[in-house]
Amino acid sequence: MAREMLRCESADIDRLVEAGLPYEYRSGERYFDPNDLYNLGMYSNRSTTQPELAFRMLFRFTTRPLDDLLRPKTWDFRVRFECTECAGAAPWHFEEPDVVRFGGSVADVTRPAVSAGSAEFSAKVTTTGARTPIVSPVLRRLTRDYLEAGYRWQMIPVPMQADYEQVHALGATSCIAASLFLAEQFRAAGYRAEAKRGWFCGVLGGALDLPHACVEVEDDDGTYRTVDIAKAQLAARLSPDTGDFQELCLGSIYNKVIPSTASGNAPFGRHECGSQVPIRVHADIRAVRSS
Ligand SMILES: [Zn+2]
Repeated sequence: MAREMLRCESADIDRLVEAGLPYEYRSGERYFDPNDLYNLGMYSNRSTTQPELAFRMLFRFTTRPLDDLLRPKTWDFRVRFECTECAGAAPWHFEEPDVVRFGGSVADVTRPAVSAGSAEFSAKVTTTGARTPIVSPVLRRLTRDYLEAGYRWQMIPVPMQADYEQVHALGATSCIAASLFLAEQFRAAGYRAEAKRGWFCGVLGGALDLPHACVEVEDDDGTYRTVDIAKAQLAARLSPDTGDFQELCLGSIYNKVIPSTASGNAPFGRHECGSQVPIRVHADIRAVRSS
């Protein structure tokens, strides 16, 4: 897997291990942390590794005209919950899509019934976009300062992202960590702000569960706006031609993101069976073809 992901030979992997790449033995084979491999590939500058190819494909839309991102778009939204060490039948709690506040709508909702082991939530979710840029010069300056600080975006396990101070002290960042960090800076400047989690859609046929978060902040005119700080940063990394999209991330909304009611460092769902092991949440979100 490591060779495939990094498009390199065994000898190259040996060199990475000698240089300190952590691993453990499982059934006689070296096993690497997928996050480590992802980050190695992403910053290898080889341009042929899987993370680099996936990133370019994922963010290609940021170089295109923005009109496509501002129109209504409907998603077939399915989330499967798995309680791996389930203690029995109980209700499920799920932080649902929260799109109505942003001009969207939700239809055909099927909520999970009381059950054991696993369950599913499904709905048709319509998102839309709007140009509503941040007006506060203070919020703009804090956002600009953050983007210019040069934190390196990395794939980081969600539980570690909650410790956003440690992540940034390492010079790194990630969607949830960045949003928690920036929300804290907005609050320190006297603004009401909270990091919220959501779903980043329309990528790789819904196969990729990319953790997404952004900051909701009350602007000087009393309106709540969203700052999608990590997407602005990633678009800048992809290409300097993404200026329009980067600006869209600073206050406006676009149809590829489904906000949820989950706060930045909270899980999307839980099972009330009493098990101490957090549930697994798998999303499958596909664009509904408009006929
Ligand atoms: Zn359970």
